[in-house]
Amino acid sequence: MENIIKDIDIIAPEEAQACDFKTTEEENTGKSKKIYIESYGCQMNFSDSEIVASIMKESGFDTTSDFEQADVIFLNTCSIREKAEQTVRKRLSQFNTLKKNKPEMTIGVLGCMAERLKDKLLEEEKIVDVVVGPDAYRDLPNLVASAEDGNKGVNTFLSREETYADISPVRLNSNGVSAFISIMRGCDNMCSFCVVPFTRGRERSRDPHSIVKEAQELFDKGYKEVTLLGQNVDSYKWSPEENNKARLNKKEDKLSAVINFAHLLEMVAKVSPALRVRFSTSHPKDITDEVLYTMKKYNNICKYIHLPVQSGNSRVLDLMNRTYDREWYLNRVKAIREILGKECGISSDMIAGFCTETEEEHQDTLSIMDIVKYDFSYMFFYSERPGTLAAKKFEDDIPLEIKKRRLAEIIEKQASLSLQRNKLDVGKVQEILIEGTSKRSQEQLKGRNSANKVVIIPNNGLKPGDYAMVKVTDCSSATLFGEIVS
Ligand code: SAM
Ligand code: SF4
Repeated sequence: MENIIKDIDIIAPEEAQACDFKTTEEENTGKSKKIYIESYGCQMNFSDSEIVASIMKESGFDTTSDFEQADVIFLNTCSIREKAEQTVRKRLSQFNTLKKNKPEMTIGVLGCMAERLKDKLLEEEKIVDVVVGPDAYRDLPNLVASAEDGNKGVNTFLSREETYADISPVRLNSNGVSAFISIMRGCDNMCSFCVVPFTRGRERSRDPHSIVKEAQELFDKGYKEVTLLGQNVDSYKWSPEENNKARLNKKEDKLSAVINFAHLLEMVAKVSPALRVRFSTSHPKDITDEVLYTMKKYNNICKYIHLPVQSGNSRVLDLMNRTYDREWYLNRVKAIREILGKECGISSDMIAGFCTETEEEHQDTLSIMDIVKYDFSYMFFYSERPGTLAAKKFEDDIPLEIKKRRLAEIIEKQASLSLQRNKLDVGKVQEILIEGTSKRSQEQLKGRNSANKVVIIPNNGLKPGDYAMVKVTDCSSATLFGEIVS
């Protein structure tokens, strides 16, 4: 336990990966310059880097996986916790020598940290040439060109409409099987702990026809799974006249048609029964029975919901401004179980040690975990973020040691629940989608079941993108093991 506690900020293996950065790969199409992008944080950021790569490609850049070969380095950053920002600053300092030896190289900071710190970032980090927020990526070629002429630049304009709907993303770090499709941007919720509404602006939904077109193109290229991405996908709402959520809600009765998330899910599911559809993240206040019934209706919509609870205590949830309480959350879980059954995967995000949280309230988080029986969770301790409602209104009064101990208890609970849930799969026959060989051995293949669990099977020559029926024979808390039955 000691070992885990030392530097926990982020724990689940998937999140540990997400905390790492992803980089561009080598692509040589004969262009004169090269760009290297390092992306930190959430899937939204990785998806944004694919849009950035596409924009830069149009203006004469190939991608590289070696920053020493790059003419332009972009760090696409995350601000969600303090540690995420420290990681980026450390990384920038590592580029100092490189920049000294190659002063003509342009270094840019993109994403949430750029949006939060704006020109302060140019003052504080001398090697940075351009600072560009999530809604201003179309301006990158201009800003890079100016930087090449010696003029540093900042564009952190937040748009009320931008969705990059017309940009076809360059797939980075792709396994050729699964891809992310961004369906909306921004967030209109004001969770008191969260910096996202300030760094990503107001909520807007992307044209559903461009989403379906992107899914179809991916399927035509051989992809078998798409994940529809947004901070709060269940609040997706689009009309031909308006894509800004707040404005759309005000004039809904005057609009010719309104597409909600259940409609969009159905539209994407219809691309092909052989294309799996996933989505993330669902907000407990917004997920409707209509969405759950749409999931039930289509076999290819995966039976897995990421439904972050954050805390199991209603007073803390109120302070967090999550706009639901413990009872509401448990009712939503009841609806999931009634409509989609026991096997539907449910995961969560949890924050330990939010302002004023008592030991009893922390126990409520542990008890809600026991009731829901999450398949896995992303678990954090509270990190105060400047400018958020919580930073303005509440004291960050839980000592770090207590936050870490509470988090360790949450992690321990989750490990035992994950094992319990995985054991329920042993003996069952499930369809898995093969993603590639397992990291540990070429002799094994890695696939995923509908509930988003990794399943390892012996390598019998199946290819990435193949479906297989597998009998689950064993499990650990993180993985299922199985054998092919057909
Ligand atoms: N939109 C998603 C939702 O509402 O569930 C979450 C997006 S946020 C990028 C991912 C997770 O980071 C949150 O669910 C929360 O658990 C965690 N998080 C956000 N702000 C945090 C903070 N200040 N300290 C610790 N964890 C935080
Ligand atoms: Fe942040 Fe809440 Fe929006 Fe999620 S729903 S991005 S936690 S403000």
